[in-house]
Amino acid sequence: MVDLNTLPRRHYTEGPTPLEHLGALSAELGGPQIWIKRDDQLGLTQGGNKTRKLEFLIAEALAQGADTLVTVGGVQSNHCRLTLSAARHEGLECHLVLEEDLGADGNPVPAEAGGNPPDHTGNFLLFDLLGADSTEVLPHGSDLVSRVHELADDLRAQGKKPYVIPVGGSNVTGALGYVDCAQELLTQFAEADLDVTSIVAPSGSAGTQAGLVAGFHGADSQLPVIGINVSRTQKDQEPKIVNLVDEVAALLELPPVPRECSVGLGDYFGTGYALPTPGMVEAVRLFAKTEGILLDPVYTGKAAAGLIDLIRQGRFGPEDTVVFIHSGGVPGLYARAGAFA
Ligand SMILES: *Cc1c(COP(=O)(O)O)cnc(C)c1O
Repeated sequence: MVDLNTLPRRHYTEGPTPLEHLGALSAELGGPQIWIKRDDQLGLTQGGNKTRKLEFLIAEALAQGADTLVTVGGVQSNHCRLTLSAARHEGLECHLVLEEDLGADGNPVPAEAGGNPPDHTGNFLLFDLLGADSTEVLPHGSDLVSRVHELADDLRAQGKKPYVIPVGGSNVTGALGYVDCAQELLTQFAEADLDVTSIVAPSGSAGTQAGLVAGFHGADSQLPVIGINVSRTQKDQEPKIVNLVDEVAALLELPPVPRECSVGLGDYFGTGYALPTPGMVEAVRLFAKTEGILLDPVYTGKAAAGLIDLIRQGRFGPEDTVVFIHSGGVPGLYARAGAFA
């Protein structure tokens, strides 16, 4: 396997993120011992999983001589917040192309009806405070990727050197951040003498999960990574995970990763991306009340709802030790407070 230390990388977090035992939550659920990987405490503004991906992505941008970042996400995108934060850190320009949320009824509001102009809160507020060089909000369902490439062309015509980061930072370069996390976890398990039986993580653009799967495989660990999908069915999500795992494995010169290693459960995202579910509300309340840990309503809340349901179904029993990946996202909690009212 290629040594990650030989690849270009920036460093945005000092040392490993904490791995904590959730004793009260484990007792409350009466199932496995639950541990949590605090990637919500990664560096850059308010932390979260995109910080690990950006260490490799920004290093690539700088190596290419880029002076400007362009990326894309929802109006409450954690990825856009952290890309902008990395840009401030590195002295780069940063432009954001954003997609409006769905309306309260779960349907897009037509642009001619005014759409869903974002509230000045949560991540959208932070885009303003961090001084995004431009933000453009497009109606739900727009072709954001084409718009990003048009914008990059315009910037090039102005003499800038843009570097485009895809949705969620989930290409092969970004996924390396979670190969690194897999190695960090294995070291922590050894230090704490922990016999971990499963990892549970949210699965969206899939870079987090693909990096973990490839990272454990590369370290000869058979540890299963159970993805909880935040926007897609199992049938739609798993091929995305598999493709990215294959790309990472090829880049790192790993033996092929068995397809069964890429599991993304589709039972917990409800009616769509970022739309609240009763299980999410229960999970966010339970983590807060038992452990004082805040989750977010879009990713970690739904992933935790999946974890809780799998425990109730008996898929994880008292003999198991499960590590839940807290991938961040808490700024979005305040933007979606209505789900808890
Ligand atoms: C982006 C994001 C995820 C999903 O990670 P992917 O690598 O896109 O699958 C999970 N949690 C939070 C808080 C995120 O911002």
